Amino acid sequence: MAQTTTRNYYKILGITQKTTKADIKKKYRELAKKYHPDTNAGSKAAEDKFKIIAEAYEVLSNAKKRKEYDRARAYRKKAPRRSRSQPNWNETSGGFGRESGGNNQGFEEPFAQEPESIDPDMPTCGFDLQFMIDVPLPIVALGGAVPYTYEKYMQCGECEGTGTYADEECTECNGKQLVVRSVTLDVKIPPGVADQHTLAIIKKGGAGRNGGPPGDLYLKICTQTHLKFKRVRNDIVHEVIISASHAEEGGPLEVATLNGTTTIQVEEATLIGEELRVPGEGAAISWGKKRGDLIIKFNIEDD
Ligand SMILES: [Zn+2]
Repeated sequence: MAQTTTRNYYKILGITQKTTKADIKKKYRELAKKYHPDTNAGSKAAEDKFKIIAEAYEVLSNAKKRKEYDRARAYRKKAPRRSRSQPNWNETSGGFGRESGGNNQGFEEPFAQEPESIDPDMPTCGFDLQFMIDVPLPIVALGGAVPYTYEKYMQCGECEGTGTYADEECTECNGKQLVVRSVTLDVKIPPGVADQHTLAIIKKGGAGRNGGPPGDLYLKICTQTHLKFKRVRNDIVHEVIISASHAEEGGPLEVATLNGTTTIQVEEATLIGEELRVPGEGAAISWGKKRGDLIIKFNIEDD
């Protein structure tokens, strides 16, 4: 039964999960020829090998069987460790870290949970990583890019991810094939994204082994407090202080917007706490097709 075998069909055929279908076929033909009963008269060992090669090829060349086989292998491999389902943001679990110097919390977990290898040559998925990213309010409101530096497992460059160097265990990664490195990503922030929203950045988690796919990176957006602006859904609230005479007589006033300045007209006899809306100067809505308003809230100085 293909689902329950513990044989490493990839290893048997000398291929990885990335090998193309055409190359699998080529590899199979080579091996089949080598171990074919006709060319190894009477050799029981060759005959057994021939059968195993045929079995491996039968499974790996058939998309459906291969999928089942991969799934069974992944299950055996991954069963003891955490599931790859949704990230857990529960702050008490320590399952996340912060960008500036505090990544360790989120990162130590994968180290601690590194599984015992059943078969060291088996392709395994990289770890999913989850962190929080502090984003300035204007970028959350209008979109943009934020550089984000974090640490993750990457393929060891010394041994090119094989774990061995000149037939010895690689000293750079101690044979683990992977090393911890710091990387910086330019994270795209969608315009008007909600605070606490989690961005899923596919394949930017830890590297896999033996050709296994990398994990994903999950970044939870934390809007930084701004000196002037406060976001209320799609609107931006900006409190300004004007003089008592300005409030009394009214007149133009230059105020900061998310991306510049604008001049508003203070009405005559403006009262403390009164608000004035500047349409379209708020946070982006629907990926920037529309924008909320800028709400100017007046405070009045005592003369
Ligand atoms: Zn190495």
